[in-house]
Amino acid sequence: MRYLIISDVHSNWEALEAVLGHAAGKYDHVVCCGDLVGYGPDPNRVTEWVRENVAFLIRGNHDKAAAGLENLEWFNPVAKVAALWTQNELSPENREYVKRLPKGPLAVADFQIAHGSPLDEDEYLFGAAEVGQAFAYLDRNLTFFGHTHIQGGFLASRGQLCAISGPGWGAPSSTLNFRPDDAYLINAGAVGQPRDDDPRAAYAIYDSDGRCVDYYRADYDIASVQEKIRRAGLPDVLAQRLEVGQ
Ligand code: ZN
Repeated sequence: MRYLIISDVHSNWEALEAVLGHAAGKYDHVVCCGDLVGYGPDPNRVTEWVRENVAFLIRGNHDKAAAGLENLEWFNPVAKVAALWTQNELSPENREYVKRLPKGPLAVADFQIAHGSPLDEDEYLFGAAEVGQAFAYLDRNLTFFGHTHIQGGFLASRGQLCAISGPGWGAPSSTLNFRPDDAYLINAGAVGQPRDDDPRAAYAIYDSDGRCVDYYRADYDIASVQEKIRRAGLPDVLAQRLEVGQ
């Protein structure tokens, strides 16, 4: 079975559409690691597509915020403005759908999905300290996560921890073949707001028969998303960051 792994779409319809075009014919099911909404200008369109097409998904912190489940005091000012805008913009049906999204981790076939870490949906897995702890609690040797918006992830091999991101990884079509005794925490990257200095939309394909992951990036029309962000009156920094991938 081949799974299209997406995360952190963040109401960016053009980026999602580009990923779907780029990935066409390469997958059987879609899996989403959370943050459908927040930051971007098209929360309803993205949510409606997800409702119809994604069988396996969990919520992210921005989904909680948009559904009124999060204390916005902990959000930075820009994220807070975007969360309030999204709350107001979502149709009642879509808000209800986002509100009912399950909390990770969620077991799917031979892997699991989490938004932040398998231990805490709001935790960022950036480096050895958090990641080492997370590996100790994995009940599957393959976990997909999101939240950092950085394509790549980590692997644990005989007690040694390695980062997968970095030079040579995260480039289009780079393949990671799994070794049976190693454990993997894989980040497909962000569809709608990459923060790894590559502004293209990120995604991954997991092939459960071949036991490998392919990382991809897709170009999309960033300028029209920026225009929509500005027209919606969302903070301008949300438009600016898209073109630099930060
Ligand atoms: Zn996010």
